[in-house]
Amino acid sequence: MQIQGITLREISMKLLTPFETSMDRLEVRRIILLEANADGVIGWGECVAAEAPFYSPEYADTAWPVLRDFLWPMVKGKRFDSACEIWGLLKRVRGHNMAKACLEAAVWDAEAKQKGIPLSKLLGGTREEIASGVSIGIKDSLDELVTTVKKELAAGYQRIKIKIKPGKDLEQVRRLRQEFPRIKLMVDANSAYTMADLPLLKQLEGFYLMMIEQPLGWDDLYSHIELQKRMETPICLDECVHTEEQARAAVELGACKIINIKMGRVGGHTIARGIHDICRQHDVPVWCGGMLETGIGRAHNIALATLPNFSLPGDVTASKRYWAEDIISPEVTVSPQGTIRVPAGPGIGFEPRLDLIEKLTVRKERLV
Ligand code: MG
Repeated sequence: MQIQGITLREISMKLLTPFETSMDRLEVRRIILLEANADGVIGWGECVAAEAPFYSPEYADTAWPVLRDFLWPMVKGKRFDSACEIWGLLKRVRGHNMAKACLEAAVWDAEAKQKGIPLSKLLGGTREEIASGVSIGIKDSLDELVTTVKKELAAGYQRIKIKIKPGKDLEQVRRLRQEFPRIKLMVDANSAYTMADLPLLKQLEGFYLMMIEQPLGWDDLYSHIELQKRMETPICLDECVHTEEQARAAVELGACKIINIKMGRVGGHTIARGIHDICRQHDVPVWCGGMLETGIGRAHNIALATLPNFSLPGDVTASKRYWAEDIISPEVTVSPQGTIRVPAGPGIGFEPRLDLIEKLTVRKERLV
């Protein structure tokens, strides 16, 4: 394979409802899309970098120049047999995993299309459908939270995750448990707490949560080890795991019992698969997180989540939860049982809607 050129675009998309976490409140997504021309076959990738450096140091305005000035020149003119080799070509750049993942994902899509097989199969996936859960942002009132959860359960979603932050935690969980004693429920703190909050985190143990996601510092593995020793509820790591080495350290040192794998955070499908395998060897289940993706990123997540150790419902949901109109056809839909059917067509298995993408584009650069 060889990549003859790439097109970078930034599109602007308004979320149907603002999404609030302990880090930020977001209304409009700025998303970088990348088209790679691999021997005449077009593959698509999406950069999940956020609008601001709050989730990770990387964000949209760092991803664009890193892709243009460093990553593309490292791939340009190179011959390779498989998308697996892209990670190695980009190694000289440290970090910038979301930019790397965007380029790498486009090559995976192109390779699967060249071979005429679904991306899920090329990655080694074994599932025909994946289990879908939702991530619910912080709400102004408890009643609004309950109404939202009711709506999502009625739509079929298999597990409910709520975002929490200090002051919007215990009461929210208590109320949800009163209303919905049996649902699969978990919380995500996006690093909003410290070990000084241990008494509060211990109180959460009374509500039989599936897991508490990333309670402590985004780069603080040590404190998560200390916390998991003191907690029965599984800790799930998200922000702390960017590499296979960090995943190995996390599971072997007992910093968590579950990992949320986001391929953008870890630099693409190759490393995501590597982390999946490490967790599988240690009997640590994983699930696929979300970054408010458009249909293109969503399609990549669906393919990744077909790997066997993605045994817990993830954050990959229907297009219509986030967008008035998604940029792929057909849109991603969720069955009344809370599952997403894995597409059987070649590559990501969804068609990018070029007319709509063009309309949403705010900047574009073609690199050859
Ligand atoms: Mg998270």
